[in-house]
Amino acid sequence: MIQHTERTDMTLTAVTVAATLAGMAAQFTAQERVAAAAFLLAFLAGGVPAALSALRGLWRDHVLDIDLLMVVAALAAAAVGAPLEGAVLLALFSLSGTLEHRAMGKARRAVEALMHLRPDTALRRNGDGVDEVATSALAPGDIVVLRPGARVPVDGVVVQGTGPLDLSTITGESMPVTKGPGDALNEATVNLSAVIDMAVTRPVADSTVARMIRLVTEAQAARAPSERFSDWFGQRYTVAVLAGSVLAFAVFLALGLDTQAALYKAAVLLVAASPCAVVISVPAAILSALSAAARGGVLFKGGAALETLASVRGFAFDKTGTLTTGKAEVRRIVATNGDEAAFLALLAGIEAQSEHPIAAAIRSEADRRGIAPALLAEVQAHPSQGVTAAGGVWAGNRRMLARMGADATALDGFDEAAETVVWLGRGQQVLGAAAVADTPRASSAAGLAALRRSGVTLAMMTGDRRAVADRVGGGLGLRPDEIHADLLPGDKVQLIAGMAAQGPVAFVGDGVNDAAALARADVGIAMGAAGSEVALQAAGVALMSDDMTRLAEAHRLARRTAGIIRQNLAFALGAMVLLVTAGLFWDLPLPLAVIGHEGGTVLVVLNGLRLLADPIRKRD
Ligand code: ADP
Ligand code: MG
Repeated sequence: MIQHTERTDMTLTAVTVAATLAGMAAQFTAQERVAAAAFLLAFLAGGVPAALSALRGLWRDHVLDIDLLMVVAALAAAAVGAPLEGAVLLALFSLSGTLEHRAMGKARRAVEALMHLRPDTALRRNGDGVDEVATSALAPGDIVVLRPGARVPVDGVVVQGTGPLDLSTITGESMPVTKGPGDALNEATVNLSAVIDMAVTRPVADSTVARMIRLVTEAQAARAPSERFSDWFGQRYTVAVLAGSVLAFAVFLALGLDTQAALYKAAVLLVAASPCAVVISVPAAILSALSAAARGGVLFKGGAALETLASVRGFAFDKTGTLTTGKAEVRRIVATNGDEAAFLALLAGIEAQSEHPIAAAIRSEADRRGIAPALLAEVQAHPSQGVTAAGGVWAGNRRMLARMGADATALDGFDEAAETVVWLGRGQQVLGAAAVADTPRASSAAGLAALRRSGVTLAMMTGDRRAVADRVGGGLGLRPDEIHADLLPGDKVQLIAGMAAQGPVAFVGDGVNDAAALARADVGIAMGAAGSEVALQAAGVALMSDDMTRLAEAHRLARRTAGIIRQNLAFALGAMVLLVTAGLFWDLPLPLAVIGHEGGTVLVVLNGLRLLADPIRKRD
């Protein structure tokens, strides 16, 4: 836990180890002076940096660093005429510290590899020609030409050309996706075969990749609850170990041991009881898991979100845009007076500003038929009901119909099919209705099934009507009691609170009008977050892709991480108890105590690092 660059770290370690070996050889061949000089060098190279960092910790943060224990133990060994054992302690301590740093650095940097996927230069359109410019010089509004095989240099939107892109670097999804004019492109994805012109929408520093890296880096810096425990434990415990060793020294003296033997045994106890492994066991696992998840397109906003997801007993899903694609289509239209064009113009007008997938479906239907939306003032959204505007115009579901006191008997039967129906009216008069449907995501059924196998409870929550909810939910393998329909946003929050009685709840949404539910749940999970700013902010976990099987994978990874943390803590505490017992009741030699202690520390780090090799994959 010495704070230096890796290179000085490694050099100091090498010097300490070499000097210790040289001292050992000199001692064997009875060259006392050479041995003394070598041990002095080992103590300086191995002990001084640790002592300095410990003093700094004491001075600045008023915490006792565990490193201090090692230095004290080594000095005690030297004081009782066992400099070789003190040097061995420092050499092993330094070696395991370096290993640990390298391993943790690897976990921390795993996600930064994404950054290197950004090309250094890009082709910027300049009148009729193109210039090759540095990627960092691109500004919003610039037009960039993507040749086949080119990586997208910054976030942008297609202005010309249509063709497949490999999005795997961002979403973890290996199937190419076709993009055409108007579609958003993310940095670091690969244009496979067409020539595409894109307009830059964000400066490089704000790109999706840059934000992903920022999020993961912040997540790594934020401490998880179990990390806070191990920190707290480390600090309290360091003081206790120091005090305990002094006490043990006194007791050994009182029991009749001579000063030298008592000091040696106290040093053994000091090393045996040091909680290095306990302190490093949790961050090693969490850092690795956060990095592995990020490479699979799942961003955890911190170890806390990871630990909560591991403990989740129930998953609640939003329907529209989450379990379904959210790309709804208008299936049927009926106008009370028979004039479908006028009806659609008014409906598209009132839905002109809404973010709701239903509104988007209506706008694109009007667009497809070449109908210009009417201009309406004072448009207001009523969540889970619809929209209203000036002049008494309204659109929405039966709840809205009832609220307006309108009577739809003239159109009775229109909403018999399991489709979402949007009624349009003015005052109490119903002007017509449109039936809208969207399709479940291809991955939803498999994702829900995988979660069900892991033993959690499932629930679908929607503001849509019962018939539609049953059709969609049933098709995805949900039981009737797991399907909740006709909900207002407040009802979703209450249902989640009800589920929370059985244990922590995760809410999975697309970020559109789910903020309250995302916030009420113990952990909020946003789908398809690559493009959506809102989702990235509101949720504790963000899935860059909209592949539902990845959610089950993230849950599995979180559980596995929690398991490895438990293993690590149990092992580290167990090893400590064993070593302390051996130090108290048996003549444990100092080098063995050191090997047990440092070996345990390295083992828990490596155990945590196994998570790095456990990527999140798409499952079928
Ligand atoms: P979900 O929970 O499935 O995401 P919402 O709570 O967003 O659904 O909406 C529930 C219902 O409210 C919709 O099925 C629709 O009937 C009605 N609704 C919401 N917004 C609109 C809108 N902009 N236009 C018409 N109807 C709407
Ligand atoms: Mg929704």
